[in-house]
Amino acid sequence: MKKHNFYAGPSILPQYTIENTAKAVLDFAGTGLSVMEVSHRSKEFVAVVDEAIALFKELLSIPEGYSVLFLGGGASLQFAMVPYNFLNKKAAYLNTGVWAKKAIKEAKFFGETVVVASSEDAVFNYVPKNYTIPTDADYFHITTNNTIYGTEIRKDIDSPVPLIADMSSDIFSRPIDISKYAMIYGGAQKNLAPSGVTFVIVKNEALGKVDRSIPTMLNYQTHIDSESMFNTPPCLPIYAALQTLKWLKDNGGIKVMEKKNIEKANLLYNEIDRNKFFKGTAAIEDRSLMNICFVMSDEYKELETAFYNFASAKGMIGIKGHRSVGGFRASTYNALPKESVEALVATMKEFEKNN
Ligand SMILES: *Cc1c(COP(=O)(O)O)cnc(C)c1O
Repeated sequence: MKKHNFYAGPSILPQYTIENTAKAVLDFAGTGLSVMEVSHRSKEFVAVVDEAIALFKELLSIPEGYSVLFLGGGASLQFAMVPYNFLNKKAAYLNTGVWAKKAIKEAKFFGETVVVASSEDAVFNYVPKNYTIPTDADYFHITTNNTIYGTEIRKDIDSPVPLIADMSSDIFSRPIDISKYAMIYGGAQKNLAPSGVTFVIVKNEALGKVDRSIPTMLNYQTHIDSESMFNTPPCLPIYAALQTLKWLKDNGGIKVMEKKNIEKANLLYNEIDRNKFFKGTAAIEDRSLMNICFVMSDEYKELETAFYNFASAKGMIGIKGHRSVGGFRASTYNALPKESVEALVATMKEFEKNN
């Protein structure tokens, strides 16, 4: 039976990425060696990193003056590296979920941390709108896609202070006006590559403004100066990321991706809204294109396990909601084909008919 992969992360990757990475595990760039056993400083591997950075810049239209880095430690290490490198006196954060809270917790180790608005009062089911960003903050941090709650900030906001965004789960899902950001980061394992590599897009001139000294490995400048080769980078995930970037380019780039993502999300949200057994959990205007969260409607709460088992038997994988919220979550990342969303919608209709 065909499996439909709705996992939130690690998550579905293009078949192109998986096949080309599998080939390079056996024979990398005609070297007769595995990509896992060649020096990161070999000319073949340096070419991989160079091409990945070039494609990152091309696909996202990254302007001059920004660096693209491939680091280790996941988005979670960035929660600490961001304040280490940017927080001098005061930082401002938008609290839109568990990941935002984790970022806020780390910032507090480095200085005053102001939460300008929070949607925690409503289980993070919306994105706060009318807040004021303090103009004396060193930066303002947002989480553009709240993977666990299925809310998303899909527009590049204006900030009077440097804007920093965790885009772990929506990078490459829509065009971004990079010039509005001082920095964007994310773990690659949602929409780009296997886990192990973290991407960072940083505006060079936004760095170097804190008074503290920063340990070498935690200083973005180190990685800019050494072009992500200060130490051994996560070579295999970077190789896989390059394949996904090529796939994105071959498939028309990010505008085309966004169009497909909107189509897929609309298909599923329309069914959630139509089918009396289900209801969406995120505020309609903040619904994510990447993580679609829903629960059984109040009259049918007791059918949750029944639907889960029914859907699992139909090949729907990874649709359980995050352990902190329950219900269901279908992640519809770039690589998820429309057919998988259609299969899930058909499953929901069939469940409706049978019950
Ligand atoms: C998954 C996720 C993280 C955590 O990433 P790690 O690489 O596991 O540290 C952080 N932020 C968001 C928005 C995520 O979706």
